[in-house]
Amino acid sequence: MTFSADEEFALQLDGEDALADFRDRFHIPCGAEGRPLIYFVGNSLGLMPKTTRQIVNQELDDWARLAVDAHLDAATPWYSYHETLREPAARLVGAQPNEVVCMNSLTVNLHLLMATFYRPRKGRCKIMMEEPAFPSDTYAIKSQIAHHGFDPEESLVLARPRVGEFALHQEDIEAVLKKQGEQIALVLFAGVNFFTGQLFDIARITWLAQERGCIAGIDLAHAVGNAPLALHDWNVDFAVWCSYKYLNSGPGAVAGAFVHERHARDRDLPRFAGWWGNDPAKRFRMQLEPDFVPVPSADAWQVSNPPILAMAPLRTSLALFDEAGGMEALRAKSIRLTGYFQFLLKRETSELFTVITPHETNERGCQLSILVHERAKELFQKLEAAGVKCDFREPNVIRAAPTPLYNTFHEVWRCAKVLVEHS
Ligand SMILES: *Cc1c(COP(=O)(O)O)cnc(C)c1O
Repeated sequence: MTFSADEEFALQLDGEDALADFRDRFHIPCGAEGRPLIYFVGNSLGLMPKTTRQIVNQELDDWARLAVDAHLDAATPWYSYHETLREPAARLVGAQPNEVVCMNSLTVNLHLLMATFYRPRKGRCKIMMEEPAFPSDTYAIKSQIAHHGFDPEESLVLARPRVGEFALHQEDIEAVLKKQGEQIALVLFAGVNFFTGQLFDIARITWLAQERGCIAGIDLAHAVGNAPLALHDWNVDFAVWCSYKYLNSGPGAVAGAFVHERHARDRDLPRFAGWWGNDPAKRFRMQLEPDFVPVPSADAWQVSNPPILAMAPLRTSLALFDEAGGMEALRAKSIRLTGYFQFLLKRETSELFTVITPHETNERGCQLSILVHERAKELFQKLEAAGVKCDFREPNVIRAAPTPLYNTFHEVWRCAKVLVEHS
């Protein structure tokens, strides 16, 4: 696609955008002059859909009206509430419905799934991940290694960017697996790296890991709702994600987990069990059923009864993805939106900054990470003053994530203007 740097062109792209109306479905915070902010931090906390309040109120009303009977008689019965999320969530990650469950938070799910899938033994006790990784993942992994009596310093293997570079080379990931694969129990990789925005070849990493006898787990925090996924076909063993970033389900929203059906059906896998993972037909027989009988699906990893008030927003936010035509339609716009952003920044490839996100469309999601060579904080403040909401990673990286559900080409144009005029 050929772009133009004229403002007219940005407006023309918005005019041709079949998804443009979805912007109106969200509350957009306003800046000092009452003008909507250019909200490029959907990678941190997605905007609130206008229908969310109504759906949370519905659950409050059902609680008031029905109390305990709402478990079965609410407009959406609480007993099987999580089941209403299964299919839309499965569509987003490319899974079968029985492979997906919405529960807990991301790091908790990571621990629960590592309890099943990280089974280190002498000679094969390592976990491989990418650098830089999100700190919560690093803490979770190191604590799991230590929990099993191994040394995190020795057993954490990092695939690193080359000196002076930021994105990882696929061949470097492969080299680590070739060299140490036999000692690695679990490869836990991001789908999209939080810092650089690099989209990894999940299918390939999964295949390589499994070829070496490792389990492949994927952290989709920055990938879900951002890039098309096909977890089932890629044969990923397990995956986890959060729902408050690109999925717009609210602060601390109920997260998600994927377990490939070949594991999900396996009732003999070790796990940390609780009553909500048990066969729902027998759940209320309580003390009469002391033996845990896991449901033969990802639901078996549920521990407690779900927080209905926290789960309600997922119903509206996931429905919006379906309404917009799913990830394929959104990704098509996203590629154009971020491609346009990159075009506008590159035009001036100045000494001012370097985009450290890979330039190839299939190696990135919607986010661009901009490394600012001088006075980075000042530039960030300039963006803030112009009503552009981005985020700043110390010491000098600005992350900007235009999302296809609610951002416009004209917003990208305005943001780029502030960036290139900085000198
Ligand atoms: C956002 C994010 C988290 C956050 O974890 P929570 O358990 O949801 O607080 C963890 N890991 C990655 C990679 C993230 O991007």
